[in-house]
Amino acid sequence: MHEMSLCEGVVQLIEDQSRTQNFSKVKTVWLEIGALAGVEKEAMRFSFAAVARDTVAEGSKLEIIDVPGLARCPACARDVQVSARYDDCPDCGHYPLDIIAGEEMRIKELEVQ
Ligand SMILES: [Zn+2]
Repeated sequence: MHEMSLCEGVVQLIEDQSRTQNFSKVKTVWLEIGALAGVEKEAMRFSFAAVARDTVAEGSKLEIIDVPGLARCPACARDVQVSARYDDCPDCGHYPLDIIAGEEMRIKELEVQ
């Protein structure tokens, strides 16, 4: 389950921020997850609670924000929404498309104490 190591990365970032920005407790974490990032949201929630234990993020609420997958079709030059990395163009059927959004995962905001 790679969500566990992804959560370790997220919690590490939060711990780093707690030192530079001087907070000792996180109440809510807003995490953006792209539709093409290959991340299981339920696994993410489960892993986050486990990894956050004994850190400033312990007991914090994880709010997941879905970021849609977006791609540009090199054939018809349109931006189209995709749900999978290997989708073809819904307009002209061209494949492959250039993915422009939805592959990333990042902390959007932290509510701290
Ligand atoms: Zn197209």
